[in-house]
Order: sequence, then structure tokens, then C-alpha cells
Amino acid sequence: MEAEPRPGSPRRIGLFGGSFDPVHAGHLHVARAAGERFGLDRIVFVPAAQSPFKPDQRPAAGEHRLAMLRLALAGEPEWSASAIELDRGGPSWTIDTVRALPKAIGEREDCALYLVLGSDNLPALPQWKESRALLERVQPIVIFRDGDASAQLEPLRAMLGDALAKKVEAGYLRLPPVAVSSTEVRAALARGEREVAGVPSSVLDYIRAHRLYGARA
Ligand code: ATP
Repeated sequence: MEAEPRPGSPRRIGLFGGSFDPVHAGHLHVARAAGERFGLDRIVFVPAAQSPFKPDQRPAAGEHRLAMLRLALAGEPEWSASAIELDRGGPSWTIDTVRALPKAIGEREDCALYLVLGSDNLPALPQWKESRALLERVQPIVIFRDGDASAQLEPLRAMLGDALAKKVEAGYLRLPPVAVSSTEVRAALARGEREVAGVPSSVLDYIRAHRLYGARA
């Protein structure tokens, strides 16, 4: 990752959205790889208030997910967490975040924005709010884990056109799998397991102190 902004050229800012319920090593691995591959100057992790596509999901309170992110990102000067979607509340549409983010984090409006997303999001991407405007503003970074089905770009091309489909394809990033998910972490905690692989110890301490996910102190 490049620590110094290049004079004259816009800074490259990565936006990494998700539930982060809780943050784990898979998220950190994705951020590191995306930052290195696309030369990002900064990565902002943005926990969603409410995923528009998972209206029934009730994640841990936003303040907890944000606090755990901040613990996990400590020691990485180019990484930070933003409460922009938590503060806005309601369904967290990415285009709304993209429009507000540069000012909220003290970057120039013309900064280069990179949107980190899992390949599992591709099929529904045309249904995202103002998907065309979104893809015109950001360069997506699409994370494929080994074993992911290769992307079906045709529906996207049909709805958004060749140029935007090519832009999406230019952001493909294939990563070896990191076998951890928030779902598994929550399940292990609820079973009372003491060792939970893939979760930073500071985050585990926080979870236990606040008895999140059914964990015991
Ligand atoms: P859940 O299990 O609750 O669905 P998650 O960790 O898969 O949680 P998010 O917190 O929303 O989900 O993840 C944000 C993004 O990080 C998603 O785009 C997801 O594809 C990606 N991601 C999550 N875990 C991994 C992993 N182990 N390796 C690579 N990418 C991951």
C-alpha cells in the first residue's frame, strides 16, 4: 500500500462495506489484498445500518460493530471505520454512501473511489439503487474466493452496457480462501467455544465483555 499521496493525482480511497457482525480475518485479508493490488492510499470500512437485501437480518448494534472494527483496524494507519451508514440509518444504499463519503472523511470530491465487494454481489448489482451512477463513480474491486463460480457478466452487460461491464471485469481480484465467516464466528461463540479462530483477540475480548452473540464473559 502506498502511504504517501501522489502529488497532483487524486488519492485512491477504498470503500469496504459489509455487516462486519463481527469483523474477522477474512475481511482484513480482503482489504490488504485490494489495497496492494490497486495501490489504495486509504481504506474505509463502512458497517451497514441495514442491508437493503437482508431486511430481516438483525445484526448486533451498530455501536458494537463499529467499536469492534476500530479495535481490529488499530495499528493500520491507512485503514479506518466510518459511521456514515449507521448515522444515516435505514437501508444502506451504497450510492448514498459514495456521494457523502469524501466530505465525511476529509477527502477531495474528485478522489478516486474503489468499491470492494464480494463476487456474490454481482448478480444483484443491477438492482442496487442507481447502479449505473454508482458504477460510473467507482471502480469496483470484485473479490473472488477460490471455488466461487466465475461471474456471470452477461446479465450485467445486458442491463448496464458493455463499458460498465468491462469496468467491473477490470476489478476482478482472485484470492485464496480464508475459511472464516461472521456466521461461523457467531455460531462458535453461541456454542460457548473459548477459542475462535480468525477473530483478533482484542475483538474477542470486546465480544465477551459485552456478551455479544451469546458469548460468556
Ligand atoms: P455473514 O457470515 O454474516 O454473511 P460475512 O463475513 O460473509 O458475514 P460481511 O461482513 O457482510 O459478511 O462481509 C463483507 C464482505 O466481505 C462481503 O462482500 C464478503 O464477500 C467478504 N468476505 C467475508 N468473509 C470473507 C472471507 N473469509 N474471504 C473473503 N471475503 C470475505
